Amino acid sequence: MGRTFFVGGNWKCNGTREEVKKIVSTLNAGEVPSQDVVEVVVSPPYVFLSLVKGLLRPEFHIAAQNCWVKKGGAFTGEVSAEMLVNLGIPWVILGHSERRLILNESNDACICPLIPYIFSFQFVGDKVVYALSQGLKVIACVGETLEQRESGSTMEVVAAQTKAIAERVSNWANVVLAYEPVWAIGTGKVATPAQAQEPNTERDCKEGIFVDLVEINYIEGQVACYVTQPIEKLGTLGSVQVYLDIGLSHLSLEKGGDMPSHVVHFELRKWLQANTSPEVAATTRIIYGGSVSGANCKELAAQPDVDGFLVGGASLKPEFIDIIKSAE
Ligand code: PEP
Repeated sequence: MGRTFFVGGNWKCNGTREEVKKIVSTLNAGEVPSQDVVEVVVSPPYVFLSLVKGLLRPEFHIAAQNCWVKKGGAFTGEVSAEMLVNLGIPWVILGHSERRLILNESNDACICPLIPYIFSFQFVGDKVVYALSQGLKVIACVGETLEQRESGSTMEVVAAQTKAIAERVSNWANVVLAYEPVWAIGTGKVATPAQAQEPNTERDCKEGIFVDLVEINYIEGQVACYVTQPIEKLGTLGSVQVYLDIGLSHLSLEKGGDMPSHVVHFELRKWLQANTSPEVAATTRIIYGGSVSGANCKELAAQPDVDGFLVGGASLKPEFIDIIKSAE
């Protein structure tokens, strides 16, 4: 089933009026594939939403970077979903890791200490469902920290974050799921398939063997083994290449070990299939975010379960056009 490639640009808390105008004119001048090939959504800070909306080429769309969890009212400093709709802003990014980690927005229920009988919400899931109810489209972000990845709980974490959203959302047509490993955001450490081939020197030396790793075999929820040189390719399982195990099983990782990002995408789609519906799993776009650049976008875009990107730093630069072009 066709999933139109999606490229989002998260400008975060960056830019002056002049800088924003410059970014927009670069975007407007860029030669990019048509809208049926790639959907482009840029997300300026709130204060520049109207400016960007007035200047940006019409086939590119705009997202806010956040919105209030429920209907607006006496919430100083907040911006409501209704206000975004009123401004003609179609998209919003919710659950970004910077908000989860710095501003404590989580999957957990939060009870307002002042008026607990009125306000009790689970920030990310409730925001998603409220924004959708107001007619906004949502880029919902999930992703594990380095600590969680290293402890082998990547899938557990992203599944719990996705569950908090899935429990409340019945119509996924207006949701894009962004897998953004926290350790890859703004760090230059992109989880490319090529990176997944790098040896884990520490572990391999501990085993007394150093091998040239050519692929991580990830079969039915298990990282099976690392393999060396000429091996027989047995076939493909979903998006995962399945190779013959040549007997280095003592190098096996535990389930949920160091998964390459495209494997997380594959697993997330499997999770959606089991916990929502096959149709939602087949049609929902799962995009990748974390140090995506003009240099690495092509390789990532080639992964069958990577349906696009959410780009931070590089979305402020001309290379964002190259990232949009990776949809071709
Ligand atoms: C992001 O903030 O969503 C992001 C992916 O940032 P960067 O591309 O800079 O890592």
